[in-house]
Amino acid sequence: MFCIGPHLSTTGGFLKMGQTAVEIGANTFQYFTRNPRGGRAKAIDPADAAALIALMEEEQFGPVMAHAPYTLNPCSDKPSVREFAMQTMADDLVRTEYLPGNFYNFHPGSHVGQGIEAGITLIAKQLNTLLTSDLTTTVLLETMTGKGSEIGGSFEELREICDRVSLADKLGICLDTCHIHDAGYDIVGDLDGVLTEFDRVIGLERLQAIHLNDSKNLRGAKKDRHAVIGGGELGLAALTRVINHPVLRVLPFFLETPNELPGYAEEIRLLRQLRV
Ligand code: FE
Ligand code: FE
Ligand code: ZN
Repeated sequence: MFCIGPHLSTTGGFLKMGQTAVEIGANTFQYFTRNPRGGRAKAIDPADAAALIALMEEEQFGPVMAHAPYTLNPCSDKPSVREFAMQTMADDLVRTEYLPGNFYNFHPGSHVGQGIEAGITLIAKQLNTLLTSDLTTTVLLETMTGKGSEIGGSFEELREICDRVSLADKLGICLDTCHIHDAGYDIVGDLDGVLTEFDRVIGLERLQAIHLNDSKNLRGAKKDRHAVIGGGELGLAALTRVINHPVLRVLPFFLETPNELPGYAEEIRLLRQLRV
């Protein structure tokens, strides 16, 4: 099964997102747990969650992905920001259990001058506080560009976080094609080499999902500006290799391209054509 979907607005609730996904030819989707800039989340309607679960079964969806707000920074130098990160993730993980067995993805964080080691320690501490054995949600660390003091711009940093988290089976990695290209990994010229490196450093068994984006910037630019599929520096040929690669093709793909619904529909149609 080729599992692919867009990033959708949560306005209208869970079932509405599922229906929108179906309408544009998707069989999964990503959504923000709350305003991406932070703040309070709407109360969950259990009946709405149940209706989405039924639709997902009917339409044979793959797992859906909740995305944490960008302001969530477990390794901030400010205790109040770390406290917000802890509270927000704790609340998000209660909420994602209304859709059992899906994904919760977050940006590991920025150490803002404290150093990578200190940052990794704080991120692992938050995860060890919040991950419990009864959690059905798999929490994913997203691969980042490494801009500023961002942690997760190298496979080594992500591996280091994984190593320090005790409940290993609750934690995985979401690979963002734009981000790792911007971080310097050559997924255009040497996808096999990059995946071999991922396997050597982190282990491919940790890789659970793909953010499929083109990039507006050159490899290594550390910018993080997503482009539409085929409209950036990765290009359609490289992204076609990504969706068909034997290691990756079994994973769910999430588009975070600068599109409204018609653009997403078009990209999904195109990618389904290019899937072999
Ligand atoms: Fe992200
Ligand atoms: Fe992403
Ligand atoms: Zn990004």
